[in-house]
Amino acid sequence: MPEHSNGPVDPPTFVTHLECSATGERYEADRVHGLSAAGKPLLVRYDLEALGARVSKETLAARRGGFWRYREFLPVRHDRNVVSLGEVMTPLMPLPRLARKLGAFRGDVLVKDEGRLPTGSFKARGLALAVAMAKELGLEHLAMPTNGNAGAAMAAYATQAGLRTTVFCPDDTPEINISEIEMQGAAVYRVNGLINDCGRLVGEGKETAGWFDCSTLKEPYRIEGKKTMGLELAEQMDWELPDVIFYPTGGGTGLIGMWKAFAELEAIGWIGEKRPRMVAVQASGCAPIVKAYEDGAEHAELWPDAHTVAAGIRVPAAIGDFLILQAVRDSYGFAIAVPDAEILSARDEVAREEGVLLCPEGAATYAAYKAALADGRVKPEERVVLFNCATGLKYPMPPVSRRLDHTNPIDYARL
Ligand SMILES: *Cc1c(COP(=O)(O)O)cnc(C)c1O
Repeated sequence: MPEHSNGPVDPPTFVTHLECSATGERYEADRVHGLSAAGKPLLVRYDLEALGARVSKETLAARRGGFWRYREFLPVRHDRNVVSLGEVMTPLMPLPRLARKLGAFRGDVLVKDEGRLPTGSFKARGLALAVAMAKELGLEHLAMPTNGNAGAAMAAYATQAGLRTTVFCPDDTPEINISEIEMQGAAVYRVNGLINDCGRLVGEGKETAGWFDCSTLKEPYRIEGKKTMGLELAEQMDWELPDVIFYPTGGGTGLIGMWKAFAELEAIGWIGEKRPRMVAVQASGCAPIVKAYEDGAEHAELWPDAHTVAAGIRVPAAIGDFLILQAVRDSYGFAIAVPDAEILSARDEVAREEGVLLCPEGAATYAAYKAALADGRVKPEERVVLFNCATGLKYPMPPVSRRLDHTNPIDYARL
């Protein structure tokens, strides 16, 4: 049994219970939970009044960077269970040349560069929380399906926490991701299928292997970690949210998490009711949320033969589909698909013109922004935030062709 009281050195925590995201059914805090009885994600609920009375924007401002600064908004009860690999507050970088080129005259096209986090992606946020809570609740062995980044983050934080991990990746996951996961202490397997096939193995093996299923939204705490993106964005923008957020959407945890963050911030009076329009960006080769959005559906259908260079958003079926669609619709946002060719040319353009190497998923948000400007769904004067979710360095890039033979005379005038 986990302890319920805070030790003398622990800061106060405000979790009251968990709640089924579909039925509202309540679940007790401080116990191991997966999905709700209805098979839907559970959301953590807090005593926001007490939280708001305890923390202020000023106390926050005095803390060091990184998502653990939002400790009171998070479920971990004891400091001893916090796992850290040196997180930072990720920068919000303007793209001034491209903004000018696109006629976005306020120059407010900002990239939130999540590639600066430990393990090179924003999966660090979710997995740090999942691992900390696993430790707090006494779990010993975690497993998950991954397209690469989530597995790497889980392996790294779990190794810090002293927990065992098993990871399943689609066959065609780049070697660099698989090696990273293995080197950071996980047992990693290539599986001849996609992420949902890997997810099935995690579920099927649960009983026999005795691991805990850390799949996106199948445990309640990754979303709390991803929520810190919304808290951090609000704080960085001086509690004035942007007009539009473009988010590369796979399982959708980040989009749902930010939407939850904004609701919590409004509840404690730190922001008003103005919300960004949330835009779910997918690749044309795997766009179940876009299809459901366009069909006016509440849930998305499994996307057949999913393929895209943006592996992080190659998710043919998302268990939180209805939550993504709700946030998109409630915010008056939209869902948009971009073809791989546009994703790759967006990556080239941003790197060449701004010196910022995005990951393909991040590049998809820039391609989507351009398309939305062109069709009028976003106005040039609107303040826009694009999410770059991982460092561009973790992805295969085109080979460079120029070579020099240093043993021969070089015609420097021609270089
Ligand atoms: C996981 C991942 C995504 C998708 O994030 P979700 O919040 O699960 O939708 C996007 N980009 C990258 C690089 C990722 O690793």
